[in-house]
Amino acid sequence: MGLLDKFAEVRATRESLGPIDPTRVVIERLLSPTRAMIRGRETLLAGTNNYMGMTMEPAAIAAGQSALADAGTGTTGSRMANGTHDSHRQLEAELAAFYGYPHAMVFTTGYGANLGVLSALVGPGDAVMLDAHAHASLHDGARMTRADVYSFRHNDATNLDARLRRLGDQATRTLVVVEGLYSVTGDLAPLAEITAVTHRHGALLLVDEAHSVGVIGAGGRGVVETAGVLDQVDFVVGTFSKAFGTTGGFCVSRHAELRLFSYCSRPYMFTASPSPATVASTRAALKLLRDEPQRREHLTRLCTRLLAGLRQLELPVNDVPTPVACVELDSREKALRAWNALLNAGVYVNIMLPPATPGNASLLRLSIGDAYTEADVDELVTKLGGVLGEMNAEAES
Ligand code: PMP
Repeated sequence: MGLLDKFAEVRATRESLGPIDPTRVVIERLLSPTRAMIRGRETLLAGTNNYMGMTMEPAAIAAGQSALADAGTGTTGSRMANGTHDSHRQLEAELAAFYGYPHAMVFTTGYGANLGVLSALVGPGDAVMLDAHAHASLHDGARMTRADVYSFRHNDATNLDARLRRLGDQATRTLVVVEGLYSVTGDLAPLAEITAVTHRHGALLLVDEAHSVGVIGAGGRGVVETAGVLDQVDFVVGTFSKAFGTTGGFCVSRHAELRLFSYCSRPYMFTASPSPATVASTRAALKLLRDEPQRREHLTRLCTRLLAGLRQLELPVNDVPTPVACVELDSREKALRAWNALLNAGVYVNIMLPPATPGNASLLRLSIGDAYTEADVDELVTKLGGVLGEMNAEAES
């Protein structure tokens, strides 16, 4: 077998999608944080993770423009060489202060933050214990560690307890890895229970708050804040690519050892640092996320409205309103048809297909943001109801 032969499988997967290819959607022109031209028509964006509408925030744009003019287009180097500007250090200090932790580290992407933190913390002979629904970047990070990798049942602290007990002495050399707000299903981790179980076994806990930082909690610190475990969790990672509206990732910790990661974390050491404009826009976004809790309050009201709308469509929903929801379809084909019908109706959502989904389900994933109006939420629910209703009627006829 040559190197290229394995692409036959990739080609077969592509062909199984038929004429609809959800990986090729092009945003032809952005009109606002909530609307864009797609397939030549104005489309409601319900799958961008732009939870705080920050991509078009004037203060964040102005900060980026000014940094671009002052410091240029890029750093042309890694953090450990020429890629640390004063602004990277400032952003780290501001993130540490935001969480009330002694130290923070900024990475070039959220994906890189997960690789960088897991690979620095865990090594051969140690173990990683992942929630079964953990994001691909956490799995990839776990793979980089060359440690033993296990998983426990999604959001099940009792199962975590049993799995850690089974590890015996290795439990004290284990990193438990969960998300705060789960990126596909939109449910929240029971962090108080998970933290207690993890520490009872002498393990450490990492929480990926990619979808919850800036979004959840009165102060916007995510599920670690609402679960009351800010002073107990060991490592919090997050991304700037959602609520902050930029790109990049971070890790904050109550452990001073985080400072030493810069000497051993390869995904931190061997990639160029975020550009000055990205860092400046991120700092402006952090200030707004910190100082304007009314944005989160507005978003929470919209999430409650979305939840009520989905309930009216008789769809299963989470107990707590969050900006992420998913709708399960019976098959890949149905999910593809529903996704395409929604796009033709002027609503963009994400589609998630097996094998990369929790429970191998075929899902439509919806996400909303604080730039939404109540009318936008209603439009999303009405059009979703219309598409699902038509598909049900077809199935019955
Ligand atoms: N963690 C989670 C839970 C995510 O959903 C994502 C991306 N969607 C990442 C990490 C990676 O973040 P980034 O896109 O900023 O690399």
